[in-house]
Formats: sequence, C-alpha cells, structure tokens
Amino acid sequence: MSEKILLPGEYVGPGEVYAEGATTYAAGDEIFAAAVGHADESSGTVKTRISKPSLKEGDIVYGTVIMVMDSFAIVVIYPERKEGVLPAAPPEGKIPVRNMSQGFTRMVRDAFRIGDIIRARVVTIEGEKAELTTRDPELGVIKAFCSVCRKPLENKGGRGMLSCPDGHRETRKTATDYRKYGNIPI
Ligand SMILES: [Zn+2]
Repeated sequence: MSEKILLPGEYVGPGEVYAEGATTYAAGDEIFAAAVGHADESSGTVKTRISKPSLKEGDIVYGTVIMVMDSFAIVVIYPERKEGVLPAAPPEGKIPVRNMSQGFTRMVRDAFRIGDIIRARVVTIEGEKAELTTRDPELGVIKAFCSVCRKPLENKGGRGMLSCPDGHRETRKTATDYRKYGNIPI
C-alpha cells in the first residue's frame, strides 16, 4: 500500500478500486482526492488522520472546492499540517459569489471549479459551517486542474487566465502566489 501523501485534486485511482466519499470525488470513472491523506485500497478511499480544526473568524484556511452552484461554492476545509499531524474530518466552508473577488463575478465557474485548491479567510462560523472570502489578492485558487484533461493548469498569462499543457484555457480567481504553498511549488 502506498503511503504517498495525496493533495486534494490529485488522482487516487480507478472507480473500480476507489469510491466517492467524504475524502474523494469522482470525475467520470476516475477517483480524485478531496482531502489530504493517503490512498487506502482496502477501504477504497483516501484515509486521513482525525484532527478536527477549530476555526475562528479571520483564520486563513486551505481547502478543496467540492461543489459549484449558481451563487456560491462549497469547500472542504483542511488546516495546515501541524506537528506532523495531517488534517482531516474537515468542516465545510461556503463562499458566496459576492465574496469571491473584488470585482463582479459573473459566473461562479469562472472563479472556481470542483477540485480546485484554494486559500480563503474565515468571515463567520455557524456550527460546522464557515463562510469564507477570497476577495483579497493573496486569496483564491492556488492550484487548479483542467476540467477537460485534469492536468494542473498554468498561470502563464497572469490575471487568472490559465492554460493546461494540452492547450485548454480556463479562468479562475487565482491567488497572487498561484501554484505555490508558502515557498513550496505545488
Ligand atoms: Zn486540459
């Protein structure tokens, strides 16, 4: 069994071996990680360690977009790795369309798509749900995957105009340090 740590959005395996669940999502017949963890063939899922984040207003969080609706996006939040413990069992965050960018966001899917890894700030907490914002320049998508071929998108032209190695083009509300996680290229 592989202990390679998967980031959200990374390929886990075929749908015959893995199933859609709290830590995974399906795209066609393929299963992708929706949380930080490792692929576990015996359970057919991505296993994470349980360490519930206790979020508060103003916290910067990372997460994966799992749902894109007309007026909001839903994100599974994972806290930064602390003292070697992997984040897991994350609560959900909601980004209303008005919180997505400083300009007008016409279509939510022009800002976020399923599988995107984002950095956001907590605006309010209600129970297990957090309202998030990505309006500031340093907030937004830090890694996105082509919705056609699932390859990571590059931000060659800047300003959120992304393209994949196969030439597909998509837009996102990118963070200023797109494809970096601190100093680490992702
Ligand atoms: Zn592509």
